[in-house]
Amino acid sequence: MPDQRPEELDAVVDRAHRAWTGWRADPAARTTALLAAADAVEAAGDDLAPLLTREQGKPLAESRAEVARTAARLRYFAGLTPTTTRIDDGRPVHSEIRWRPLGPVAAIVPWNFPLQLAAAKFAPALAAGNTVVLKPSPCTPLATRLLGAVLAGVLPEGVLTVVTGREPLGARLAAHPGIRHVTFTGSVPTGRAVAGAAAASLARVTLELGGNDAAILMDDVDVERIADRLFWAAFRNCGQVCMAVKRVYAPARLHAGVVEALAQRARSVVVGHGLDQDTRIGPVNNAPQLARVEELTRRALAAGARAPAGGRRLDGPGHFFAPTVLTDVPPGEPVVTGEQFGPVLPVLPYRHLDEAVDAANGTGFGLGGSVWGTDPDRAAATADRLSCGTVWINHHAELSLAQPFAGTGDSGVGVAGGPWGLYGNLRPFVVHRPEEDGR
Ligand code: NAD
Repeated sequence: MPDQRPEELDAVVDRAHRAWTGWRADPAARTTALLAAADAVEAAGDDLAPLLTREQGKPLAESRAEVARTAARLRYFAGLTPTTTRIDDGRPVHSEIRWRPLGPVAAIVPWNFPLQLAAAKFAPALAAGNTVVLKPSPCTPLATRLLGAVLAGVLPEGVLTVVTGREPLGARLAAHPGIRHVTFTGSVPTGRAVAGAAAASLARVTLELGGNDAAILMDDVDVERIADRLFWAAFRNCGQVCMAVKRVYAPARLHAGVVEALAQRARSVVVGHGLDQDTRIGPVNNAPQLARVEELTRRALAAGARAPAGGRRLDGPGHFFAPTVLTDVPPGEPVVTGEQFGPVLPVLPYRHLDEAVDAANGTGFGLGGSVWGTDPDRAAATADRLSCGTVWINHHAELSLAQPFAGTGDSGVGVAGGPWGLYGNLRPFVVHRPEEDGR
């Protein structure tokens, strides 16, 4: 991986500043360029998707879907423009609210969805008229560099630059005085560090951080009917999804059946290399993350939990961890209270619904949550009580490009997605004018 030295950032940010003058000036040219960028990403899909699989680990079909979502984000934001509004409130002046871009934006992203999370940041930032310096995780630089090269073929020079390297590259980028917005996706501790770094230049900060989403099963749930959906809501991308289901609360009466339905799927799913056609779950992306998942599981098992499926690393080369369902997990175990971000799912029994809601809301995270049951109105009434940014009924983690995406509590600051994501990259510029008085 090309390891950029932090000292090289000055030249990169400088170039982003120079490119900003032309890029901000012509909204119609921006739309055309972003639509061309979407086409170029799709056209490069046969190169991008296998590289993403080899680098990140996910099955090829999921990499193809990620490339498609990357192009879709460019196309969606290419069509968005801010609205100028006028305030007439009886004074002899009226106010016109216009929107201006901020300047060079730093986009810093993690390794679980390197391309689509990057696009979730650069597409709205570019559509708003900013330029972008994009830094992927050192665990997944290659597909992002290829994406950068593809986009360099259609965007003006300096409008989007990819920089790769280990820390302190990200910290220096977040603190760079030429950056006007730091938009970050990653873990809570790094998010706090990024906010601190950006404070020096008072750059705007948008943080999309970790989650510990709970799925609450109602007492009328049809377990067999939902088991596949619930399983994949937890284990897609090997559980490395910010808004994966990370814990399940099941009524005590149904708990054993829920555990068995999920465990049976975990035992039979094909785990392997992402380029093998039958693979449904790939490896954990990197060694530190594998060690973390292993330690959380080991600790829970040592404290008395049981694993009716998985519970250990798979033998042989690679970072493969057996899809794991945990039961009898003692209260307070970090695999429940923290974010495992891997193929391990604790299933916890509850007696009264209030207990499950309190537990779901009790971790400090507030990204998403879901409620599952046969009566959707009862499920929705319970979902209303969850403290998080997005709730789902009978599914989990489905997102529309047009919706706002924001966590509460430790899960983030600011709003991404839809028009809110565009305005997150703009500042209001207000013009007061006297009403025409005939003079
Ligand atoms: P991470 O916080 O370790 O790293 C994220 C990015 O920040 C990487 O590019 C990393 O190189 C960079 N970085 C590391 N230290 C930095 C510093 N001091 N200053 C600036 N940048 C720094 O996260 P990760 O392990 O790559 O990703 C997993 C985490 O991301 C999980 O917590 C997951 O929930 C979260 N995530 C959140 C969302 C969301 O939308 N809310 C989406 C995906 C992942």
